[in-house]
Amino acid sequence: MTARVLVVDDIEANVKLLEARLTIEYFETLTARSGPEALQICADEGADVVLLDVMMPGMDGFEVCRRLKADPKTQHIPVIMVTALDQPSDKIRGLEAGADDFLTKPVDDLALITRVKNLSRLKMLMDEMLKRASTGEQMGMDQDASAFGGGAGLGGKVLLVEDHARSATRIMETLSSEQTVDLESDPQRALMILPEKDYDLLMVSLSLSGTDGLRLCSQLRSLNRFRQLPILIISEPGENVRLLRGLEMGVNDYLVRPIEKNEMMARVRTQIKRKRYTDQLRNRLEESVEMAITDSLTGLYNRHYMERHLTTLVKEAVQRGKPLSMLIVDIDYFKAVNDTHGHQAGDAVLKDFANRLRENIRGIDLACRLGGEEFVVMMPETDLGKAYVAGERLRQRIASVPFQVSPNTELTITASVGIATLDGADDTPEGLLKRADEALYSAKRDGRNRVVADAA
Ligand code: GH3
Ligand code: MG
Ligand code: MG
Repeated sequence: MTARVLVVDDIEANVKLLEARLTIEYFETLTARSGPEALQICADEGADVVLLDVMMPGMDGFEVCRRLKADPKTQHIPVIMVTALDQPSDKIRGLEAGADDFLTKPVDDLALITRVKNLSRLKMLMDEMLKRASTGEQMGMDQDASAFGGGAGLGGKVLLVEDHARSATRIMETLSSEQTVDLESDPQRALMILPEKDYDLLMVSLSLSGTDGLRLCSQLRSLNRFRQLPILIISEPGENVRLLRGLEMGVNDYLVRPIEKNEMMARVRTQIKRKRYTDQLRNRLEESVEMAITDSLTGLYNRHYMERHLTTLVKEAVQRGKPLSMLIVDIDYFKAVNDTHGHQAGDAVLKDFANRLRENIRGIDLACRLGGEEFVVMMPETDLGKAYVAGERLRQRIASVPFQVSPNTELTITASVGIATLDGADDTPEGLLKRADEALYSAKRDGRNRVVADAA
C-alpha cells in the first residue's frame, strides 16, 4: 500500500520530521508550506491523506480544511489536523471544519502511522467505489455514484467491551449522540453476542480486570466472519507494547485514556465508514458475479455459464462412466405471442415458462436460457429414457396450464423438446448440443408440442 501523504506546515523543520517518519514506513510524501499551496496540490495532483498544521500565517489549517471539504474534487481526501496545543477547543473547531482525525505535537510515531494507515485505507476504498460506479455507468448499469459510500459514518452499531462502570457510562453517553452502543463487560460473552447483531465496530478496553481484551481481538481475527469487523482498543498511557501487539494482530485503531471525546467520535466514524465501504464493495462483487452468469429476465443461468458448465459435466460423466442427458426446449410460435399481445406479454410468458422449467426438474439438473425462447436443461446421471420422461412431463405442464399474461388474458402455450444423451467417451459437448438441436428440429417439423429423442 503506497499512499501519497501531503504534509502541510509553515515550519520547515516540522515538514522534514514528518516526511522522514512517513518515508521510513514507505509512504510517498508531498509537501506544502502554506494553505494556498496545499489547496493547489490537492486540486492538481490529489493526495490520499493530508497532514495539516493548524497554526499557519495567512490561511490557517481550519480554513484549508473547510475549503478542501467544500470542493467536490477534494472533499473525499481525508484530513488529519496537527494541533500544537492539546486543546479540546481546537479539536472541536477541526471537526466543524470537516477534519477526519487529529494528531498532537510533538507527534507520536505510532499515532502518526496508525492514523495515516487508517485514513489512506479508507481513501483507497472510496476511490475503488467511485471507479466501479463509473465503470457501471459506462456499462449502462443502473448505478448511481452518489448512492455509494458509507455516508458520514453515523448511525452505526457499536459493541463496547468495558467492565469499568464509570468509563463505560462516559463513552456511551458521548457516542450515543451519533451511534447505537451496546455494552458488555465480559469478553467471552461479547463473543456470543457479536453474531446476534450486525455490528459495525467493536471497542475493547485493554484494562479489563482478570482478563485480556487482546485475546478477544485475536479470537475475532481468526474467525472468517469477523475478519473484517473494525476493532478499536482503549489503552492506558504508556502501554505501547500491548498497543503494538494489538495493531499487529489486526486491531484497526486505538484511543488512549483519558479519552478525548471529539477524537473518539472522529475515530469511530472513520471505522464505521470503512466497514460500510468494505461491505458495499463485497456486495457489489457478488452482484456482478451473479449478473455475469445469470439471465436477468428469468434468473436462469445464461448461455455463457451453460457452455462452461457443460464442459465440466461431460468430462465428469466420461470419467465416471455415467450417463448425461440434455433437453433443448423451444416455445412454439412464440413470435406470434409478441406480435399479437405485445413484447411485455412475451416477457411474462418467458418468466412463467422459466419457473415451470425450474419446478419440473431435479436439484442436480441445471436449467439455462440459451437465448430468446430457447432453453436447455442438463441432466447428470440421466439416460435417454429417463430424460424422455422428464421432457414429456415438462411438455404437458406447459401445454395443460394456460399462461396468465395480464389480468384478463390467458394464453395456451406449447413447446417442443429435443433430447440427446452422451454417447461414449469420444462424445463432446458440441456433439451433444448438436444432436439435441437436431432432435428439436424434428419435433418442430413433425408438428410441434412434442418430444423427440435423438436416435443416435
Ligand atoms: P417456432 O415454433 O418455430 O419456434 O416459432 P417461433 O415464433 O417460436 O420462433 P422464432 O425464432 O421465429 O421467433 C422467436 C421470437 O422470440 C422472436 C423474438 O421477437 C422473440 N423473443 C426473443 N427474445 C425475446 C425476449 O426476451 N422477450 C420477448 N418478449 N420476445 C423475445
Ligand atoms: Mg420458438
Ligand atoms: Mg426459435
